[in-house]
This record gives sequence, C-alpha cells and structure tokens, in this order.
Amino acid sequence: MDNRALSHGLWDKTAPDRPSFESVRGEKVTDVAIIGGGYSGLSAALHLSQEGTQTILLEARDIGFGGAGRNVGLVNAGLWLMPSDVISELGNEIGEELIRVLGKSPDLVFDLIKKHNIECEAVRAGTLHCAHSRGGYKALQQREAQWQDRGAPVKLFNREEATPLIGSKKFHGALLDKRAGTIQPLAYAYGLSRAAKDAGANIYTNSPVLSYKRDKTCWQLTTPNGSVKAKAVILAVQGYAERAFKKMGKNLVPFNYFQFATQPLPESVLKTILPGKQGAWDTALVLSSYRLDDAGRLIVGSVGQVDNMAFNLHKKWVERSIAKVFPQIGSVSLEHAWYGRIAMTLNHIPRFHILGPDFITVTSYNGRGIGPGSVFGKLMAEYIKTGSTAGIPLPVSKPEKVPMRGFRGLFYEAGARMYHLAQRRTGLF
Ligand SMILES: Cc1cc2nc3c(=O)[nH]c(=O)nc-3n(C[C@H](O)[C@H](O)[C@H](O)COP(=O)(O)OP(=O)(O)OC[C@H]3O[C@@H](n4cnc5c(N)ncnc54)[C@H](O)[C@@H]3O)c2cc1C
Repeated sequence: MDNRALSHGLWDKTAPDRPSFESVRGEKVTDVAIIGGGYSGLSAALHLSQEGTQTILLEARDIGFGGAGRNVGLVNAGLWLMPSDVISELGNEIGEELIRVLGKSPDLVFDLIKKHNIECEAVRAGTLHCAHSRGGYKALQQREAQWQDRGAPVKLFNREEATPLIGSKKFHGALLDKRAGTIQPLAYAYGLSRAAKDAGANIYTNSPVLSYKRDKTCWQLTTPNGSVKAKAVILAVQGYAERAFKKMGKNLVPFNYFQFATQPLPESVLKTILPGKQGAWDTALVLSSYRLDDAGRLIVGSVGQVDNMAFNLHKKWVERSIAKVFPQIGSVSLEHAWYGRIAMTLNHIPRFHILGPDFITVTSYNGRGIGPGSVFGKLMAEYIKTGSTAGIPLPVSKPEKVPMRGFRGLFYEAGARMYHLAQRRTGLF
C-alpha cells in the first residue's frame, strides 16, 4: 500500500489519544473470538462483554484501520438504497425489518456515545441530501414520501429554502433527515474500543489472523506470535479483509472514496456554510460530500483514490468544486488528503454469511457503516448467545465472487477521474 492508503488523514490528527493495546502472544482460550477492530467488531465485543461473555478481539493493524478510521462521518439512517429498492431486493418481510432496524441505527450510535462518554465531535443535527439536478430532486421527492410513510422525520426543501441551509445556491433542493448526524469517525472507533475494554473485552492489535481451522468443538485462530481457541467466531473485516480472509475481498466491488480537508475557515465564512452543522452529500452518480469538523475545516469528498497518479487531478477538482459550491470561501489551502475502500455489493445490500458452526459475518454495508456496523455488531453478539438467525434482518447467503471484479473497479476509478476532469474543464461543478 502507498502512504496515502495507510493514512487516516485529518481523523488521525484530531482523534483524542490513540488507545494502546498489545499484540497477542502465546495460546489464549475464550468463548468468542472477534476478528476486526472497526465498528462491527468493537460493537460485538462491547455487547458480548457487557453480558459477561469472554471475548478476544483480534485486529490486524490498529483500531479503526479500515473504513472506520477513514469515512466521512455521516451517521445516516437506513441504507444508500431507497426503501422501495430494499423491498424489491429482499421482499416485504425482511426488507421492512431491515429498513426499520437501520432507520433507528443512529439512535444506537448516539446512545453509545453518550453512555460511554465518547469524545468524537458528535453532532445530531441531521444530514442534508442535496439534489444536484432536477432528476435528483425528483428522486428526493420519492425518498421523502417513502420515509414519511414509515414515520421518519424527513423534510424536503426546495431550492430557495435549501440555499441558506447549505450555504450554496448550487443545489435544486435538499432532504433533511433529522434522525442523522455527524461524528469524528476514528474517535468513535477509539471510544468504542475503550468501552469494550472497560466492559472486559480482551483487545489485541497488530494481530492479523493468518489461518483458522476447526477441531471437534472449537475454532483455532493463528496469529504471527500466538493463537486463540474459541467456541464461536465473529468475522468483521469488511473491505479491509487481509491474510486468512483476503479472498473475501473478491466478493466485493472495489470502490474508493477520497476526502480533502481545508484549513480551519474564518468565523465570518463559517457562519454561511452548513450553519445548522448538518453533514451533506449530493444525488450525483459520482457523488460528493461536504461537512465541517469541530475546528471549522470544510471536508470535501468524492469517488476515487488519491494515490500518486490521481492526487493532482482530484485535488484540482476539489479546489474548483469549493469555488463553485461555496464561492464565499475564496482562496483556501487543502491541508489533509486521504481515502478508503468501501465494501460494495452489486445490489447494494449487506450480506449475512454463516461460514461454519458458530462462525458468522455480516458484511458489506455499501458506504453506510457507522449505524449498521454498530447495530450488526450488537445483533451478531445476540446471534452468538441465541443461535437464532431471526434477529438479523438479512437472508443467510453464501459468499459469492463478483464477476469481472477487476474490470468493475477500474470502471469506477476511471469513471470518477474522467468525471472530475470533465467538470474541471467544462466548469460544471
Ligand atoms: C472513504 C469512506 C467513506 C465512508 N463514509 C461513510 C459515512 O459517511 N457514513 C457511514 O455510515 N459509513 C461510511 N463508510 C462506510 C463505513 O466506514 C464502513 O461501513 C465501516 O467502517 C464498517 O465497519 P466494520 O467494523 O464492519 O469494518 P472496518 O471498519 O473496515 O474494519 C475492519 C477491520 O478488520 C481488520 N482486519 C482485516 N483482516 C483482518 C485479519 N485477517 N485479522 C484481523 N483483523 C483484520 C482491518 O484491519 C480493519 O481494521 C465509508 C467508508 C469509506 C471507506
């Protein structure tokens, strides 16, 4: 991986003290082994430990190394798909249950933050989904109607009403979802790890699982300097699967998303940009996101990776995009750049796999993992206790390779670069 693939950018700079854990050494025995130190694994560890179950969490690198430490920090309700698309994919019964459970997922996130005093710049002021075109506005009308039918506090604003909420005249309107909010994502992961540790979880970092096998009653996991014997295993590696689980990456569509953060903006300008402190993103196919952090930096994101080749192209697009969307900012320097790999499936629905006796994973949140990771971690913990699949609102499926995976990844990456290049040349935003 190049340096930017290892970097967590701004989040690394502003997250309060990185928790320190040792790597696993020697032979350990536990009830449940959890693999992966992002939201899913940490939430599972916290919920199991709180109930008195012995757990060991093994993280290949550091807490929040994967998506948890790189994301935009939008704590959204529900999936990326519209409710009607979720029903088309899963049918009424499971679909409605998934919509209900994930619609409430921000409640769990903000409750955990409050309960465990997690310092993570949490703001629950909603999010704004901004229409980049007339078609985008129509799609938001459908979203509004579908969520309102389900009792959700969402409200669509037309262009005139949305302009002061966003601080930009560029959008055709925006859907405010009051269930949602923003966090500093890496700090939330750090806080969850402290809460899980305090509840009794044994957490080890720099402990990649290299192999796993089952004897008559237990799973045996090996790491470079030790091993863990466990009655049950929760796998929570998503788009950052490595070593023993590298092959699971073949079940996902490679999809990168980058972010750039400005220097802190002056108060006079800040008053005019997202003054209600909502996080925002738009309806474009190559979507963009805009949010502020506690220090008043504007963070702009879009599809693509910012490795050596693409860095300048995407950076210039961000500069141009800021000038077009928020011209009141004027000249500004970009101080941080980073990116991450989103775990996408072809139909944008997460997957629930039973990989062996008492060995499960829920994976692929399709860019919506703060709420879902926290919730599915909890639900996987409940599955381990009950053995019942009924509590997880997803069909049990077998892992499946994505056909033409490499080509699809190139398609997204090249498409994003062409889109950003064309927008620079044409002056469209
Ligand atoms: C750039 C980007 C922007 C995003 N924006 C948002 C957003 O605004 N809102 C939102 O809700 N979601 C967003 N997401 C999605 C969200 O970040 C993920 O869905 C979420 O992090 C998933 O959490 P997780 O714990 O399941 O997996 P991850 O956070 O990816 O953690 C998996 C962990 O498993 C570890 N691991 C891998 N292999 C092994 C092994 N062999 N042994 C031990 N450990 C291993 C990895 O090192 C990693 O730390 C975004 C994702 C990205 C990448």
